[in-house]
Amino acid sequence: MTVRAYVVDQAAGPTRPYEYEPAPLGPLEVDVALTHSGICQTDMGLIDDHFGLNRFPAVAGHEGIGTVTAVGSAVDPQQLQIGRRVGVGAIAGSCFHCEWCLSGQQHLCPQKDDVIFRDQGGTFASHIRAGDWRHVIPIPDALRSAEAAPLLCAGTTVFNAIVEHGVRPTDRVAVVGIGGLGHLALQILRAWGCHVTAISTSADKEDDAHRFGADTFLTSDQVSQAGERFDFILDTVGADLPWDDYFATLRPRGKLCVVGVPASPFTINQMSILPASKSLVSAVVGPPAVTRQLMDFAARHHIQAKAEVFPRDQIDHAIDHVRNGRARYRAVIDLR
Ligand SMILES: [Zn+2]
Ligand SMILES: [Zn+2]
Repeated sequence: MTVRAYVVDQAAGPTRPYEYEPAPLGPLEVDVALTHSGICQTDMGLIDDHFGLNRFPAVAGHEGIGTVTAVGSAVDPQQLQIGRRVGVGAIAGSCFHCEWCLSGQQHLCPQKDDVIFRDQGGTFASHIRAGDWRHVIPIPDALRSAEAAPLLCAGTTVFNAIVEHGVRPTDRVAVVGIGGLGHLALQILRAWGCHVTAISTSADKEDDAHRFGADTFLTSDQVSQAGERFDFILDTVGADLPWDDYFATLRPRGKLCVVGVPASPFTINQMSILPASKSLVSAVVGPPAVTRQLMDFAARHHIQAKAEVFPRDQIDHAIDHVRNGRARYRAVIDLR
């Protein structure tokens, strides 16, 4: 097998084709021939070196869907077979012996195989090798690959936030930011049964927000006057917000869950949190069991990313499209 990848040699640089022969397949490993990959903000962080790690050459991508082409000798053939359509997301393996793995929280494993931190092993490529078959996610027939790929990072991040923080169908929730994560969060929370408010700086996203499932739409400058109304706020924007204004919209015991990365440390008036037992929380991509639940939930409720699909020879154009904030609402590369 020859892997044909799209490698970036320097920060914000273009991709170039790059081929390599992978090592022999380990007993728990799985090779997947990719057909589609989403482009996530974290990929932009890697390509444009927002993290300051200067880890080049780099192959980005961690929302891959394709077909299993090889399985290691210890992979249970009842569970995963060659030819199966599967996804590989942000985490492609973990140790399966630490306390987090043994309690089903493999996304917290200190030895997890973070695709974004691999050397040249992302999904902007013809193939990806998963470090452990238990992190390979079967894709239900009802989901199309281009629309399902973004569920593997963006989708499972918001779904895991809802699961981990105990959002109930009776809750009134807000989603801040209608982008890659936000447009999936609106669909998921609507199907979950919540009353959903979309909050955006862009008033022109109101119609789309309603189509994705929002009951109510607020522009960001209306938040300070919104009053106490939400049980849960999911902030997807990755920017500094007027945090006290947002806490003021939470009902007692409400949670503000931040899944984007703000530019600055949080500055929050203590009285925004203390008197009514409110909390600031976060979430990351879910463990494999939660991502599998999301796939089943998405198939049942017709949840899918609004994908803009770019052929593989336009990968740099697709990356620029995301870099400039023009994706409506998730850019996906067709790798075939
Ligand atoms: Zn991601
Ligand atoms: Zn572990």
